Amino acid sequence: MRYLILSDIHANWEALEAVMAEAESEGFDDILCLGDVVGYGADPDICCEWVRNNSSQVVRGNHDRAAVGQLDLEWFNPAAQDSTLWTQKRLAANNASWLGNLPAGPIAFEGFQIVHGSPGGEDDYIIYAHEALALVGSLAERVTFFGHTHIQGGFQLIRNNARILKTSMSLLGRVECDLEPDSYYLVNPGAVGQPRDHDPRAAWAIYHSGERRVVYYRTPYDVQTAQAKIIAAGLPDSLALRLAIGK
Ligand code: ZN
Repeated sequence: MRYLILSDIHANWEALEAVMAEAESEGFDDILCLGDVVGYGADPDICCEWVRNNSSQVVRGNHDRAAVGQLDLEWFNPAAQDSTLWTQKRLAANNASWLGNLPAGPIAFEGFQIVHGSPGGEDDYIIYAHEALALVGSLAERVTFFGHTHIQGGFQLIRNNARILKTSMSLLGRVECDLEPDSYYLVNPGAVGQPRDHDPRAAWAIYHSGERRVVYYRTPYDVQTAQAKIIAAGLPDSLALRLAIGK
C-alpha cells in the first residue's frame, strides 16, 4: 500500500492543491491525515471538506480542538488565539461538528500508527532526540507518523540512540528513506500549510508499507495567494509573513 501522509494543513488551500497535484502524479492508494486541518490559514471550510471527503483516517490536532471550543486558548500565542477566534466564527456547522468528533489517536494500521503530537500524548512535541528516545519501550508499532512540530524529518531509534532523519535541506524536493527492520521510527511528513523548518515549500510524505520506504517531498505552491487571503481576512500579518520564510 502507498499511504499519502498529510499533516498540519492549517487552512492553506493553495498548499494543499499543489501537494495533491504532485501526489496524484506520484501515485498513492490511501490518504491519512495527522491533524491540524484548520487554524492560521484563511480557508478552513474548503480544507475540512477536502480532508473529510478524501482522507480515510484523520486524527485531531490541537488547532482542530481549539476551533470547536475543546481547547483552552491560554495555551496559544496571540496570533494563534486571533486565528482561532476567526476560525470559530467562520467555520460552517457541518465542518465544526466533523472536527469536534475526530479521534485523538493513535490509530494503528498494519505495522504503523498515526498520531498528531506523540504516542505519549496528542499535544506533546517531539522536537529533540531526547524526546524521541524517551518513547523507547512504549512504542506500540515499529513506525509512528507524527506531526505538530511542522518540521519534516523524524528519528530512527536504534537501541539507545536516536538518529535524526534530516530532509528539509534537500533542494530536490524528494528524499527516499528505507526503514531498517530492527529500528523503531518516528516519521514526520512536515507541514503542508505552514512549514517551520526554514523551507517555505509544502511538506508531505508517501509511505510504501510493503517496501517499508518513506519518501519525503517538498512542493512549491502559490504562497502569495495564500498570504493575500490571510491579509484580506483580517488575520494577523505575521501569519502571512511566516509562510514566505518557512518559520
Ligand atoms: Zn500544527
